[in-house]
Amino acid sequence: MFSYRHAFHAGNHADVLKHTVLIATLQHVLLKEAALMVLDTHAGAGLYRLDGDYANTSGESADGIARVLAAPGPLAPALQAYVDTVRGFNQGQQVRVYPGSPFIAQRLLRAHDRLKLFELHPSDARALERNVEQLDAGRQVAVLREDGFEGARKLLPPAARRALVLCDPSYEIKTDYGRVQDMLQDALKRFATGTYAVWYPIIPRPEAHDLPRRLKTLATKLGKPWLHATLTVKGSKMAPPAAGDSRRPGLPASGMFVINPPYTLQAALREALPQMAELLAQDRHAGHTLEAGGG
Ligand code: SAM
Repeated sequence: MFSYRHAFHAGNHADVLKHTVLIATLQHVLLKEAALMVLDTHAGAGLYRLDGDYANTSGESADGIARVLAAPGPLAPALQAYVDTVRGFNQGQQVRVYPGSPFIAQRLLRAHDRLKLFELHPSDARALERNVEQLDAGRQVAVLREDGFEGARKLLPPAARRALVLCDPSYEIKTDYGRVQDMLQDALKRFATGTYAVWYPIIPRPEAHDLPRRLKTLATKLGKPWLHATLTVKGSKMAPPAAGDSRRPGLPASGMFVINPPYTLQAALREALPQMAELLAQDRHAGHTLEAGGG
């Protein structure tokens, strides 16, 4: 456990999908004046250098955010909002700093909203605490060195009766898939009207394959609307890297499953996903899916 460091992956295609969905969701939810609590069950370090050692070793942002930034034509509004948010953490044209989900959320929240960040990795939790201190956000943001699955349960239902939960585990251990499902089942019991957004990798592993199916069944059984978006950038059987290319073959695809999505999210993604797939395609297997149900 704990070999995963998000710094290697910051700004990759999975982050483009996840953070575009997060921003589009938050933008809609924040149209209402009432206070919102955001729970980020797996927060990471919060801020990443794209020109630092970790990112340079993996080179993943070159096939993620960098391609979106270099898009030749106008972007779909949801992708443009994503780019604008990332650019907001940088000065000038160069994008060297990449905001993780905690900093994206905090940038969009209002003073009366609350952000609870769970992170268990000792180094990333320390980095997150240091990064959050710089914000001087006072009581708005709390960093908790606790298990995010358990922590989220404890904070639901929120006093303000409005919450967005982002669940973005590293899936280093295969029990994470089952824990996501258990957490959501329990969270929906405690707080049925919250918005729940889950990221997961699409990899040839039965647990990964089953997760969206199980979440659909759960949401549908409870009569909750759901939205499921996937982004594939390449086929899963990759040729070995060329000589001198130190990058790992990497993740071919990932998905976002949102329960109680804002009603505007489907239309926003219908426009953004085809463009995302086109910009991030690494081979002819690239593509996207978008399906909705429940409710
Ligand atoms: N959500 C972040 C973002 O979008 O910027 C990225 C998070 S990364 C995919 C997953 C993080 O979860 C890692 O930093 C890992 O250390 C942390 N982690 C792993 N298991 C955890 C647990 N049970 N509770 C809280 N954090 C955990």
